[in-house]
Amino acid sequence: MVPPHVAAAILAADRPVCVYVYDRAVLHANVAALRAALPAGTRIAYAMKANGDDRVLAALLPHVDGLEVASGGELAAAVAAGSRFTLFSGPGKTDADLRAAVAAGAVVNVESLHELRRLTVYGAARVCLRINRAHPALPGTHAMAGVATQFGLDEALLPEAVGIARAGGLDVAGFHLHAVSNNLDAVAHAAYVRDAVAWAAGAAQRWGVPAPIINVGGGFGVDIAGAGRFDLDAFAAGLSDLDLPDGATLVVEPGRFVTAAAGWYATEVLDVKQTHGRWFVVVRGGTHHFRLPASWGYSHPFTVLPVDAWPYPFQRPQVSDAAVDVAGEQCNPRDVLARDVPVASVRAGDVLVFANTGAYGWEVAHHDFLRLTHPRFVIV
Ligand SMILES: *Cc1c(COP(=O)(O)O)cnc(C)c1O
Repeated sequence: MVPPHVAAAILAADRPVCVYVYDRAVLHANVAALRAALPAGTRIAYAMKANGDDRVLAALLPHVDGLEVASGGELAAAVAAGSRFTLFSGPGKTDADLRAAVAAGAVVNVESLHELRRLTVYGAARVCLRINRAHPALPGTHAMAGVATQFGLDEALLPEAVGIARAGGLDVAGFHLHAVSNNLDAVAHAAYVRDAVAWAAGAAQRWGVPAPIINVGGGFGVDIAGAGRFDLDAFAAGLSDLDLPDGATLVVEPGRFVTAAAGWYATEVLDVKQTHGRWFVVVRGGTHHFRLPASWGYSHPFTVLPVDAWPYPFQRPQVSDAAVDVAGEQCNPRDVLARDVPVASVRAGDVLVFANTGAYGWEVAHHDFLRLTHPRFVIV
């Protein structure tokens, strides 16, 4: 079901409809639910790469403690939006990025010894050392620690990293341990947080880091195509005996969890046809607006929003009680959002609504392929 206020915003859009609708109330509720499950005093830095829309940032900033950014462009947007606590990650920061981070007073999540050495040139930055620990990888779709990746420093380099930072006048503020994306196993995630905190507490003591930032990153999962969910009650229960050292600040960097369910991508059916016995529903948008189904290889669920008005004097293309492929407008056979999905009825002029598209939907798509028109963006 599409919530009535979202459906109203979709149907108010210009024809042919092609719009992302974001809902402030869902953004706020997701932050509030996560905050309630975390220990008091935890700082939430929204990872803006999940959805960097200016209206989304403006809606979120009063409810989160700050922003996690992963490029110079995101840093500039975070500063412009008024982020008061900004953390800068990413394995390929340029010198200009590092200069801008220092000027903005951002905490730099340092990912290599070379980055650390370059940072010492630009002044007294606050840094968290991003460590790729030796623990086993977590469940989730994108493991970034516990396995070989381009992220962070191996644990064995920690003594050398602290030495370089201190000799260069940097403030070693703590540790950054973001390890996974899209983990739906809340019990495993709580165990990871407990283990990360215990490890960071030990490292802080060993290396003389008072009141450390212990940043356990994001990774709270969303089952965008199914009925699974990240169980916040189980997560909270798993953190009830968390042993946070005195003065330490726990930081999380959720992206997907905050925005995925706050977005709907709606696109109008331009044509319905059959070739070689298979039904195709062709829509005004496609994977250049919402990329996940193509990159992850799944069918994204959708709802048909019927539009009865039909402007032509001739027959309306339609299909009933059949399985359809939903194809986009590109000249590209991979531009498919859903395959072989049974529908009761779909007609040219109806609107297909894809829920749970507020995270990594528009942001990761190749927007300008074929010079097709961008969708509109509405926040309700
Ligand atoms: C992408 C990213 C996040 C957010 O990840 P989600 O899976 O969307 O929660 C947090 N921290 C860092 C360093 C990231 O790169």
